[in-house]
Amino acid sequence: MVGPALKKYAKSHGLAVNGGFAYGALYGYRIALDDGQNIKRLFLVSRFTDDERKAAFEALLGSGDVVTHFRIQAREYRDNQLILVFTDKAGTMTLIGEFLDWLLPQLPQYGAAADVCTHCGGMTAGSGTWVVIDGLPYYMHESCLNSKTQIIRSNEETVRENLTGSYLTGFIGALLGGLLGSLIWAGVMYVGFIAGIVGFLIGFFANKGYALFKGKEGKGKLAILIVVILLCVIIGTLLGEYVSCLKEIPGLPFKTFVSLIKEYSEVRAAVLKDFLLGLLFAALSVIGLLARTKRETSGANIKVLK
Ligand SMILES: [Zn+2]
Repeated sequence: MVGPALKKYAKSHGLAVNGGFAYGALYGYRIALDDGQNIKRLFLVSRFTDDERKAAFEALLGSGDVVTHFRIQAREYRDNQLILVFTDKAGTMTLIGEFLDWLLPQLPQYGAAADVCTHCGGMTAGSGTWVVIDGLPYYMHESCLNSKTQIIRSNEETVRENLTGSYLTGFIGALLGGLLGSLIWAGVMYVGFIAGIVGFLIGFFANKGYALFKGKEGKGKLAILIVVILLCVIIGTLLGEYVSCLKEIPGLPFKTFVSLIKEYSEVRAAVLKDFLLGLLFAALSVIGLLARTKRETSGANIKVLK
């Protein structure tokens, strides 16, 4: 993401802001910046032309003074990119601005080629495309981007074809997990607490059970989880109400309990309230699962920045 300080910097330095990054060219070098949790990241696209000068550059960046002064938390060089992580405090963007003004003009003397493609390392002559792949920025030839996209997609195809597991065993596992959640629900109600929040546990256990019984990680997983969770929330609600009634009327047969629900609107209202509350919490856990399942099944996220 791009916070206010970074946005301001981008504006004053002619960088574009899109897809969670500020990016563009500074001193002829392609850079991207973003904000994380108490950090700022700098991606500097460059390829070193000889090892000796690269080692000298590493020594420069790794020196204690530089690390301390610029609050550099981590540094990595891969895919023709130098990635630096800065500890984010007040004034960090100003500090990074100073860093860039200090570092970039020196880069040519360390043999760091500007304007290269992160994929092949070749020159782009300004014709590269910025792209964000699974949350990381890259600057590539259009042709490199196409072949990279093709490789990623065909790998995913292979992974999908090799997906093992079955929906049936997954369903059984999810049901067992969900029922465990229902039992906990009833137990919590028996002790006398409001059990709605246990709906969250039903979602959690159903998902765990699904994985434990080697359920297939496909698009059907979500439908199975929704059915199981609905079922288990209903079971949890009824069971919970029943055990709390048992406390008041020991030995109450389940059949009588059911006829109580049918006869008395207050009992019905109590059951319905529990059910809806449980459903709300179960739905919250499902929303989390939904996001994760989508990520698991939809593969790498590739976003071309304009
Ligand atoms: Zn390339």
